Amino acid sequence: MFVQNCEFCQTTLKADSLPEIKQRGKEHLASNHHESFAELFAEKYAGRRCGNECGYTFPDDVSRVANSAFVCPNCDHDHLNPLVTQYVFWRIKRQ
Ligand SMILES: [Zn+2]
Ligand SMILES: [Zn+2]
Repeated sequence: MFVQNCEFCQTTLKADSLPEIKQRGKEHLASNHHESFAELFAEKYAGRRCGNECGYTFPDDVSRVANSAFVCPNCDHDHLNPLVTQYVFWRIKRQ
């Protein structure tokens, strides 16, 4: 059994397999905590380069990064999926 505690709403997700818990975690976060991830994305990427290595650097201003809504204005790379995948992976526990 794999479990994942959501730190945003105290929900505990459970699944029998690793791919399943990853999928559940991603769906839960994408549909319930989109705004929290927009903040997380802005904090993580302010002043940093696009995750697609296209050469674009996000502005230092966190509010301007938040407005870009996960997408690189230069190459259209969507940062939501990798961010959520990484986040889910950290929080999965085996029971
Ligand atoms: Zn939640
Ligand atoms: Zn880019």
